[in-house]
Amino acid sequence: MTRLGDLTWPGVEAEILAVPLGSTEQHGPHLPLSTDTDIAQALAHGLASRRADVLVAPPVAYGASGEHAGFSGTLSIGHEALELLLVELVRSATESFPHVLLVNGHGGNVATLSAACARLRDESRDVLVWSPAWRGDAHAGRTETSVQLALDPSRVGTSRDAGATDNLADLMPALRHGGLRAVTDNGVLGDPAGASAEEGEALLLEALDDLEKTVVAWLTTDSA
Ligand SMILES: [Zn+2]
Repeated sequence: MTRLGDLTWPGVEAEILAVPLGSTEQHGPHLPLSTDTDIAQALAHGLASRRADVLVAPPVAYGASGEHAGFSGTLSIGHEALELLLVELVRSATESFPHVLLVNGHGGNVATLSAACARLRDESRDVLVWSPAWRGDAHAGRTETSVQLALDPSRVGTSRDAGATDNLADLMPALRHGGLRAVTDNGVLGDPAGASAEEGEALLLEALDDLEKTVVAWLTTDSA
Protein backbone atom coordinates (compact mmCIF):
# COMPACT_ATOMS: atom_id res chain seq x y z
CA MET A 1 0.00 0.00 0.00
CA THR A 2 1.44 3.31 -1.01
CA ARG A 3 -1.45 5.72 -0.42
CA LEU A 4 -1.62 7.30 3.00
CA GLY A 5 -5.38 7.77 2.67
CA ASP A 6 -5.93 4.02 2.29
CA LEU A 7 -4.25 3.12 5.58
CA THR A 8 -5.44 2.99 9.18
CA TRP A 9 -3.24 4.74 11.73
CA PRO A 10 -1.57 1.68 13.30
CA GLY A 11 -0.39 0.73 9.81
CA VAL A 12 1.27 4.05 9.05
CA GLU A 13 5.01 3.67 8.91
CA ALA A 14 7.30 5.06 6.24
CA GLU A 15 10.58 6.92 5.99
CA ILE A 16 9.34 9.40 3.41
CA LEU A 17 5.98 11.06 2.93
CA ALA A 18 5.58 12.40 -0.63
CA VAL A 19 3.01 15.16 -0.95
CA PRO A 20 1.90 15.92 -4.53
CA LEU A 21 1.31 19.62 -5.03
CA GLY A 22 -0.49 20.94 -8.08
CA SER A 23 -2.99 23.59 -9.03
CA THR A 24 -6.54 23.97 -10.23
CA GLU A 25 -6.01 26.24 -13.19
CA GLN A 26 -6.87 26.60 -16.84
CA HIS A 27 -4.73 24.56 -19.22
CA GLY A 28 -6.06 25.79 -22.55
CA PRO A 29 -9.17 24.50 -24.32
CA HIS A 30 -7.89 20.91 -24.43
CA LEU A 31 -6.39 19.97 -21.03
CA PRO A 32 -8.24 19.54 -17.71
CA LEU A 33 -7.83 22.03 -14.89
CA SER A 34 -6.29 19.26 -12.78
CA THR A 35 -3.34 18.79 -15.14
CA ASP A 36 -0.62 20.01 -12.75
CA THR A 37 -2.09 17.97 -9.90
CA ASP A 38 -2.36 14.88 -12.14
CA ILE A 39 1.29 15.19 -13.09
CA ALA A 40 2.47 15.69 -9.49
CA GLN A 41 0.44 12.67 -8.38
CA ALA A 42 1.72 10.47 -11.20
CA LEU A 43 5.33 11.31 -10.35
CA ALA A 44 4.84 10.78 -6.60
CA HIS A 45 3.23 7.39 -7.24
CA GLY A 46 5.95 6.57 -9.76
CA LEU A 47 8.53 7.19 -7.03
CA ALA A 48 6.58 5.04 -4.57
CA SER A 49 6.53 2.19 -7.08
CA ARG A 50 10.34 2.37 -7.21
CA ARG A 51 10.99 2.85 -3.49
CA ALA A 52 9.30 0.84 -0.74
CA ASP A 53 10.04 3.57 1.84
CA VAL A 54 7.73 6.15 0.20
CA LEU A 55 4.11 6.75 1.10
CA VAL A 56 2.01 9.17 -0.99
CA ALA A 57 -0.25 11.72 0.72
CA PRO A 58 -3.50 13.00 -0.77
CA PRO A 59 -2.59 15.83 -3.15
CA VAL A 60 -2.77 19.54 -2.50
CA ALA A 61 -4.86 20.47 -5.53
CA TYR A 62 -4.74 24.26 -5.05
CA GLY A 63 -1.77 26.52 -5.58
CA ALA A 64 -0.78 30.05 -6.49
CA SER A 65 -2.34 30.57 -9.90
CA GLY A 66 -3.04 34.29 -9.90
CA GLU A 67 -1.44 34.59 -13.36
CA HIS A 68 -4.34 32.55 -14.75
CA ALA A 69 -7.06 34.88 -13.44
CA GLY A 70 -9.72 35.66 -16.00
CA PHE A 71 -9.86 32.12 -17.37
CA SER A 72 -12.97 30.42 -16.06
CA GLY A 73 -12.53 27.72 -13.44
CA THR A 74 -9.11 28.75 -12.17
CA LEU A 75 -9.04 28.50 -8.35
CA SER A 76 -6.02 30.14 -6.74
CA ILE A 77 -5.26 30.41 -3.03
CA GLY A 78 -2.41 32.90 -3.54
CA HIS A 79 1.19 32.88 -2.34
CA GLU A 80 0.60 33.81 1.29
CA ALA A 81 -2.04 31.14 1.95
CA LEU A 82 -0.03 28.54 0.06
CA GLU A 83 3.08 29.25 2.12
CA LEU A 84 1.14 28.93 5.38
CA LEU A 85 -0.60 25.77 4.17
CA LEU A 86 2.73 24.14 3.30
CA VAL A 87 4.39 25.20 6.55
CA GLU A 88 1.57 23.82 8.70
CA LEU A 89 1.17 20.65 6.61
CA VAL A 90 4.86 19.79 6.80
CA ARG A 91 5.07 20.65 10.52
CA SER A 92 2.28 18.14 11.07
CA ALA A 93 3.73 15.55 8.67
CA THR A 94 7.12 15.55 10.41
CA GLU A 95 5.42 14.25 13.57
CA SER A 96 4.83 10.97 11.70
CA PHE A 97 7.54 10.88 9.03
CA PRO A 98 11.29 11.60 9.26
CA HIS A 99 11.45 12.98 5.70
CA VAL A 100 8.84 14.98 3.79
CA LEU A 101 9.05 15.42 0.04
CA LEU A 102 6.96 17.99 -1.83
CA VAL A 103 6.48 16.91 -5.45
CA ASN A 104 5.39 20.02 -7.31
CA GLY A 105 3.62 20.12 -10.68
CA HIS A 106 2.98 23.87 -11.04
CA GLY A 107 5.69 26.40 -11.93
CA GLY A 108 3.78 29.23 -10.23
CA ASN A 109 4.23 27.49 -6.85
CA VAL A 110 8.02 27.38 -6.98
CA ALA A 111 8.93 30.67 -5.27
CA THR A 112 6.47 30.04 -2.45
CA LEU A 113 7.70 26.49 -2.02
CA SER A 114 11.26 27.73 -1.57
CA ALA A 115 10.11 30.24 1.04
CA ALA A 116 8.11 27.60 2.94
CA CYS A 117 10.99 25.16 2.70
CA ALA A 118 13.46 27.69 4.11
CA ARG A 119 11.20 28.32 7.12
CA LEU A 120 10.78 24.60 7.74
CA ARG A 121 14.49 23.89 7.49
CA ASP A 122 15.09 26.68 10.01
CA GLU A 123 12.93 24.59 12.33
CA SER A 124 15.20 21.57 11.60
CA ARG A 125 12.49 19.77 9.67
CA ASP A 126 13.73 17.53 6.91
CA VAL A 127 11.82 18.68 3.86
CA LEU A 128 12.75 18.60 0.19
CA VAL A 129 11.03 20.31 -2.71
CA TRP A 130 11.28 18.92 -6.20
CA SER A 131 9.75 20.13 -9.48
CA PRO A 132 10.23 18.55 -12.90
CA ALA A 133 12.56 20.50 -15.19
CA TRP A 134 10.71 19.90 -18.45
CA ARG A 135 12.38 20.70 -21.68
CA GLY A 136 9.94 22.35 -24.03
CA ASP A 137 7.16 24.91 -23.85
CA ALA A 138 5.73 26.54 -20.77
CA HIS A 139 2.02 25.95 -20.33
CA ALA A 140 -0.51 23.58 -21.91
CA GLY A 141 1.70 23.29 -24.98
CA ARG A 142 3.45 20.30 -26.47
CA THR A 143 5.11 19.24 -23.20
CA GLU A 144 2.09 19.14 -20.88
CA THR A 145 -0.18 17.85 -23.65
CA SER A 146 2.22 14.95 -24.28
CA VAL A 147 2.43 14.15 -20.58
CA GLN A 148 -1.36 14.22 -20.15
CA LEU A 149 -1.72 12.01 -23.26
CA ALA A 150 0.61 9.52 -21.58
CA LEU A 151 -1.34 9.66 -18.30
CA ASP A 152 -4.87 9.52 -19.73
CA PRO A 153 -5.63 10.28 -23.39
CA SER A 154 -9.37 10.35 -22.67
CA ARG A 155 -8.81 13.60 -20.76
CA VAL A 156 -7.21 15.45 -23.66
CA GLY A 157 -9.49 17.37 -26.02
CA THR A 158 -9.06 17.72 -29.75
CA SER A 159 -9.03 21.51 -30.00
CA ARG A 160 -5.26 21.95 -29.87
CA ASP A 161 -4.47 25.41 -31.23
CA ALA A 162 -1.20 27.15 -30.53
CA GLY A 163 -1.17 29.94 -27.96
CA ALA A 164 1.59 32.49 -27.48
CA THR A 165 4.73 30.95 -28.94
CA ASP A 166 7.27 33.74 -28.31
CA ASN A 167 9.94 32.67 -25.87
CA LEU A 168 9.10 33.08 -22.23
CA ALA A 169 11.74 35.73 -21.51
CA ASP A 170 10.17 38.01 -24.15
CA LEU A 171 6.67 37.45 -22.78
CA MET A 172 7.71 37.95 -19.17
CA PRO A 173 7.17 41.75 -18.82
CA ALA A 174 3.60 41.49 -20.16
CA LEU A 175 2.98 38.30 -18.16
CA ARG A 176 4.14 39.91 -14.93
CA HIS A 177 1.88 42.85 -15.48
CA GLY A 178 -1.29 41.31 -16.90
CA GLY A 179 -0.99 37.54 -16.44
CA LEU A 180 -1.67 35.06 -19.22
CA ARG A 181 -4.77 36.99 -20.26
CA ALA A 182 -2.46 39.74 -21.56
CA VAL A 183 -0.54 37.46 -23.91
CA THR A 184 -2.72 34.49 -24.92
CA ASP A 185 -6.41 34.24 -25.91
CA ASN A 186 -6.76 30.50 -25.43
CA GLY A 187 -4.60 30.18 -22.29
CA VAL A 188 -1.79 28.26 -23.97
CA LEU A 189 1.90 29.25 -23.86
CA GLY A 190 3.40 27.11 -26.58
CA ASP A 191 2.01 24.84 -29.25
CA PRO A 192 0.40 21.46 -28.57
CA ALA A 193 0.87 20.39 -32.20
CA GLY A 194 3.08 17.32 -32.38
CA ALA A 195 2.29 16.21 -28.82
CA SER A 196 2.14 12.45 -28.38
CA ALA A 197 1.77 9.84 -25.66
CA GLU A 198 5.20 8.42 -26.58
CA GLU A 199 6.82 11.79 -26.02
CA GLY A 200 4.90 12.14 -22.76
CA GLU A 201 6.09 8.76 -21.54
CA ALA A 202 9.68 9.70 -22.29
CA LEU A 203 9.28 13.02 -20.45
CA LEU A 204 7.72 11.30 -17.44
CA LEU A 205 10.47 8.71 -17.31
CA GLU A 206 13.15 11.39 -17.49
CA ALA A 207 11.44 13.37 -14.71
CA LEU A 208 11.01 10.26 -12.55
CA ASP A 209 14.69 9.32 -12.94
CA ASP A 210 15.65 12.83 -11.86
CA LEU A 211 13.25 12.68 -8.89
CA GLU A 212 14.63 9.32 -7.78
CA LYS A 213 18.22 10.54 -8.10
CA THR A 214 17.40 13.70 -6.13
CA VAL A 215 15.84 11.65 -3.32
CA VAL A 216 18.87 9.35 -3.12
CA ALA A 217 21.19 12.38 -2.90
CA TRP A 218 18.97 13.96 -0.24
CA LEU A 219 18.98 10.87 1.98
CA THR A 220 22.73 10.43 1.52
CA THR A 221 23.37 14.02 2.63
CA ASP A 222 21.07 13.49 5.62
CA SER A 223 22.91 10.43 6.85
CA ALA A 224 26.38 11.88 6.18
ZN1 LIG B 1 0.51 23.02 -15.95
